[in-house]
Amino acid sequence: MTSPASLPLAGLYDSHMHTPLCQHAVGHPREYAQAALDAGLSGITFTDHIPMPAWYDAPWRMRRDQLAEYVDMVQEAQAEFAGRLHIGLGLEADFHPGTERSVEEVLAAHPWDYVIGSVHYLGAWGFDNPEFADEYGRRDLGSLYRHYYALVEGAARSGLFDAVGHLDLPKKFGHRDPDGAAALKVLDTVAALGLSLDYNTAGERKPVAEAYPSPTLLTAAAERGIPLVLGSDAHQPAEVGYAFEAAAERVRAAGGQLVNYAGRVRRG
Ligand SMILES: [Zn+2]
Ligand SMILES: [Zn+2]
Repeated sequence: MTSPASLPLAGLYDSHMHTPLCQHAVGHPREYAQAALDAGLSGITFTDHIPMPAWYDAPWRMRRDQLAEYVDMVQEAQAEFAGRLHIGLGLEADFHPGTERSVEEVLAAHPWDYVIGSVHYLGAWGFDNPEFADEYGRRDLGSLYRHYYALVEGAARSGLFDAVGHLDLPKKFGHRDPDGAAALKVLDTVAALGLSLDYNTAGERKPVAEAYPSPTLLTAAAERGIPLVLGSDAHQPAEVGYAFEAAAERVRAAGGQLVNYAGRVRRG
């Protein structure tokens, strides 16, 4: 018999996953929770896409009037799995200049356990949407990444978030950062402000076939003492804990510290 403590994922949390309310994920939270139990994880945190003003990215997230349903759904799963699996309730919030007030309102509406701050848009371009990936061909990658990391820097400095989401996301379809300096500057800021970094295995399921952030940036984060939060970015139950054994090993090998926000209550 294998005792639960000897399972490779025991003690690990998956702190980045979605629900069908965002309109591009499938599976009830209880199915994500069951998948986590089956995988041998110790906990999960739901971080569905935050509701935003109606003019921003509406087809890819819940509406503001669905927020209570989101909280209810996750709380039902919490009750159902009590004593078996820790389930946190958080959000993946967007950082998009001009929408901070709306984000603040949603963050104040509930004592979220954990909030990720992510940049998914450069101006009006949703750069991680496969439908719009041809736009990369029109851009200078150097200036694209400088623009992107300036926004991520703004996200870190906004004081709204616990962690920065999928740090080097523009590499998703294989367009890698030709420079790297701007990313390191963001890591300096993240470290100085005491934020964490989403160590996100979704990139391994994408054309780039590599977690966010890259091994180089993971090492740079670890060197700066930045805590890392494992996340699968699951949009279906089968993705919970995706490739976590190797991910946790990479974090440890880089000298990084894995953390989760279980039991934590955000203030303000
Ligand atoms: Zn999503
Ligand atoms: Zn995201």
